[in-house]
Amino acid sequence: MPIEFANQGEIQDFPYANIIIDISHEKVDRPFQYKIPEKLRGQIDVGSCVKIPFGKGNVQRVGYVVELMNEPQCDPVKIKEIISLNDEELSPDALMVKLAARIHRRYGSTMINCLRTVIPVRKKVTALKHRYVSLLTDERQARDFYAGCVKRHQVARARLLEKLLEDPLERIPYEIITGKLNVTPAVIKALSDKGIVKVEIEDYYRNPVGDISAAKKEITLSPEQQNIADTIISEYDNEIRDTYLIHGITGSGKTEVYMELIDKMIKRGKQAIVLIPEIALTYQTLMRFYRHFGERVSVMNSTLSAGEKYDQALRAKNGDIDIIIGPRSALFTPFPNLGLIIIDEEHETSYKSETMPKYHAREVAIELAGIVPGGASVVLGSATPSLEAYYRAKNGTYKLFELNRRLTGGTLPEVEIADLRQELREGNRSIFSRSLQEKLQETLDAGHQAMLFINRRGLAGFVSCRSCGYVFKCPHCDVSMSEHRGGMLMCHYCGHTQPVSKICPECGSKYVTAFRAGTQQIENEVRKLYPKARVLRMDADTTRLKGSYEKILSSFAAEEADILVGTQMIVKGHDFPNVTLVGILAADMSLNAGDYRAAERTFQLLTQAAGRAGRGDKKGYVVIQSYQPDNYSVVTASQQDYKAFYEEEIEYRNLMKYPPVSHMLSVQIWAKNEDEGKEKANYIRAAIDRLFIDGAMIIGPAAASISRINDIYRMVIYVKHEDFDCLVRIRDEVSNLLDQLSKEGRLSGNIQVQFDFDPMQGF
Ligand code: ADP
Ligand code: ZN
Ligand code: ZN
Repeated sequence: MPIEFANQGEIQDFPYANIIIDISHEKVDRPFQYKIPEKLRGQIDVGSCVKIPFGKGNVQRVGYVVELMNEPQCDPVKIKEIISLNDEELSPDALMVKLAARIHRRYGSTMINCLRTVIPVRKKVTALKHRYVSLLTDERQARDFYAGCVKRHQVARARLLEKLLEDPLERIPYEIITGKLNVTPAVIKALSDKGIVKVEIEDYYRNPVGDISAAKKEITLSPEQQNIADTIISEYDNEIRDTYLIHGITGSGKTEVYMELIDKMIKRGKQAIVLIPEIALTYQTLMRFYRHFGERVSVMNSTLSAGEKYDQALRAKNGDIDIIIGPRSALFTPFPNLGLIIIDEEHETSYKSETMPKYHAREVAIELAGIVPGGASVVLGSATPSLEAYYRAKNGTYKLFELNRRLTGGTLPEVEIADLRQELREGNRSIFSRSLQEKLQETLDAGHQAMLFINRRGLAGFVSCRSCGYVFKCPHCDVSMSEHRGGMLMCHYCGHTQPVSKICPECGSKYVTAFRAGTQQIENEVRKLYPKARVLRMDADTTRLKGSYEKILSSFAAEEADILVGTQMIVKGHDFPNVTLVGILAADMSLNAGDYRAAERTFQLLTQAAGRAGRGDKKGYVVIQSYQPDNYSVVTASQQDYKAFYEEEIEYRNLMKYPPVSHMLSVQIWAKNEDEGKEKANYIRAAIDRLFIDGAMIIGPAAASISRINDIYRMVIYVKHEDFDCLVRIRDEVSNLLDQLSKEGRLSGNIQVQFDFDPMQGF
């Protein structure tokens, strides 16, 4: 049931409060009314966290006030009283409750789940101290000591000293050293015991003058950059609140524009939220913000404890900081005067929550910007904007800015596409094309580094012809099908199946196979071909342990290896100036991921991966290996031509009515019993059909792309419609229907249904 709330934000002597109980169960997913006792009148507001008696036994529970009322909704003698304010928790602001209600309305899930999303911080703990590490000895002594560490292969010590020596007067936050730099507290202690470094402790609330900002780099914005900043700020001053998209290649100066905008906002007494994908929260990025804004900036990330997160929220609320940087959840930082939300790398899939509520940070940011007092501006930035953002920028919903030049000099890398069909025809059965082999040898000879990237996004198991590149696609949905047991090919949108053909329908060759290749295989091959090269591998296996991701990257950055082999994890964030060669081994892999975003994802990954080569002053070279060298996402990525890609891709979306041209709702069904699941899926489909919603396109039910996990069967129905609200209506109807079934005892606990709007990943 949709919940709309009134009276938000006015604290008055209301006698009644409607409260959402902190229990996640659909049965209690509605507000319950309570009396506000005299002693609490005027103290309770929308967003207050309170203790209340609940249920038959009047068990004490915690709840959140979502609405204040003058009138009782039933016989007043039956209404229970609030016990007290719950002091142990930070109450969400009325604003955040409103935002939770919007998320609830748009994405579903229970209201308490939505409230928990906007109030990720729950437990009060004692305030944490801020610690810094800096050099204690003079620079010369530190350098001597550093040289000694290098000689003795004390890599962690060397890494820390090297950082400190970059700017001997700088203090580096302790958390950055133990986090991004991956230096353990034991190492810091050892160096501090030897009198080489010192650790300073400061109370967060003393708000010391930021020493760090002394090192601030003075930059004059280019006319293009200045124009973007000026336009956004002058619109802001003229009461225009809008969403802006900055499309600019990596290194074109977007971050400098963000910092200029934040400066201006701070001067206006406003605060800013900067969202960055977790994986891009690198040392370099963080230090740039620390240097520029000193103590006024804080970082949120998934490694913070609940207490630390609480602390951040409190500092934001109290006005001790002006800027928070962090992933998706940083959006819910309770600033009193939010003026600006920046979303960098706006196209990243991590901005979409994969757990309930399945919200998209971009959409929620825009909602938030619309409801904060005075309104806020939203700035999106990307080198490869999502189709959504660019589409809206082109049709005027957002304002578009372009930055086309790299400001640090450095030319774009030279890109070559290696045709794997040709390789096979000429007898090369290795996973490396001859050209990549040559380039690898040259790179090793020159003492430079190489990155080999296997594009493993999406599903393995699509079937193609290795001779001509033909891929088996669904005749109805135009996405690739994948191989299932019994030699059948299946489409994960509509369920269409057909037998796998042994012979290619295009060229008649018999090299028709399901595509499978992994990082391990590549590592083995590299070791065989280049026995002297030092190889590092980064994938889900080698990064399972906490900190290992950072360890591999910093080891590669320290040039302790010549070749880094990895999945998409390696293409983001870090800059390696000594990398001159990037090899992309299976560009096709993500192209055949079996969902409508496959080409977009491929273009983004290839562009990003290619951009890793030649970041320093040496020229970069990129080899993209593909069985479909003529595919537009491969070709346009090799030319770094976003617009050309967009034009092709939007035509496809338009033809098939995929987002952003339409909206899409996926109804995801989990069932312990396959037959029961199928029956209920068909039942839901029939119910949607019966609504006769004009313009709705309904497909499925079909087996999900992962059709069974832990013996739970997964099925999916897709509905496309141009009007998002029509999809919301369908979702509400289906929910009501399921509630009804459940009340009648016709829906066992063995069936679960979830909804996902404009899905980012296949299901
Ligand atoms: P992006 O965020 O688009 O990747 P950055 O803002 O990080 O780009 O800029 C890339 C590099 O260029 C950084 O080292 C930055 O300091 C530098 N840079 C950006 N703008 C200017 C400018 N106007 N003048 C000189 N250097 C600049
Ligand atoms: Zn063929
Ligand atoms: Zn299909």
